[in-house]
Amino acid sequence: MSRIFSGIQPTGNLHLGNYLGAVRNWVKLQDDFECIFCVVDMHAITMWQEPAELTASTREVAAAMIASGVDAKQHIIFNQSQVSGHAELAWIFNCVARLGWLNRMTQFKDKAGKNKENASVGLYAYPNLMAADILLYKATHVPVGEDQKQHLELARDIAAKFNNDFGVENFFPQPEPLILGTATRVMSLKDGTKKMSKSDPSDLSRINMTDDADTIVKKIRKAKTDAEALPGDVKGFEGRPEVANLMGIYAALSDATMDETLTKFAGEGFGTFKQHLADLAVAKLGPIQDEMRRLMAAPDHVDQVLRDGAERARAISEPIMQDIKKTVGFLNV
Ligand code: ATP
Ligand code: MG
Repeated sequence: MSRIFSGIQPTGNLHLGNYLGAVRNWVKLQDDFECIFCVVDMHAITMWQEPAELTASTREVAAAMIASGVDAKQHIIFNQSQVSGHAELAWIFNCVARLGWLNRMTQFKDKAGKNKENASVGLYAYPNLMAADILLYKATHVPVGEDQKQHLELARDIAAKFNNDFGVENFFPQPEPLILGTATRVMSLKDGTKKMSKSDPSDLSRINMTDDADTIVKKIRKAKTDAEALPGDVKGFEGRPEVANLMGIYAALSDATMDETLTKFAGEGFGTFKQHLADLAVAKLGPIQDEMRRLMAAPDHVDQVLRDGAERARAISEPIMQDIKKTVGFLNV
């Protein structure tokens, strides 16, 4: 059976983009793949995280995975820092990847902002750690949102260069991105040209998995739109990224195609549409949020899932890591 690896950073509020672009697809893939899902706390510290908040967010992300329907018995949920192979392989990949490759990464440019000199070295080397996450398990498929496509291409280049440099053809597989569904890039509610992100300073820009019904309704009501009616086909999205985004969210949450959604609301005003969207979001997210709250109230179960997951992740990765060290020429006496 092919193996999946995917991760989410415990960097704060999990949002609708993470759910529609990642976690929801994971749940659908569980029957066909062996899955390893990771709370990537080592990625999180590439930007400053308050230690107590990092701990709390790690549990919260794991709870969101469980509450969304990831089966932690059949598959693996764990946090990255507890399996040392991630850091070990990332160092080797720091020595395989080329500076020129990393210089092209747009996420670093977006996250480092204007003052690049002040960004952490970890933020720059982030894609190498991501390649290590995937290849430590020789994962073949990686379900992600569109924003991670470039990093995955880099992981493929690193895998190929390692195989080639060390003369070990097909040692690492070429991991395939799985960019699934109609909401592969959910945009900010305030700016349809910016992706919805945990790290966006404006809370109104996203719907958090922990927002209550009133907050969801309020955020959707305040979401940026325009004075025109809803379009009847995709041509009507031209110059209206916020409209495309809200309709995309509706389509994804209702498991409909964009065409079906366009037909349903053609000519309607935003007042009506936003009411429908808010009702749908509350109905779909409500049960997951209830379960998350229940899990977080007594986190022993979440901790047990993470502990057990780390143990099983170590069991898979340790023999692979030993092979890698041997291939590189690290002496083990
Ligand atoms: P941060 O701002 O800290 O980078 P994030 O919101 O980008 O947080 P990540 O933890 O980096 O979240 O990403 C977790 C997963 O969610 C990845 O698979 C990523 O592709 C996906 N994802 C993140 N944002 C979106 C989005 N707006 N739409 C669809 N998928 C998304
Ligand atoms: Mg991100």
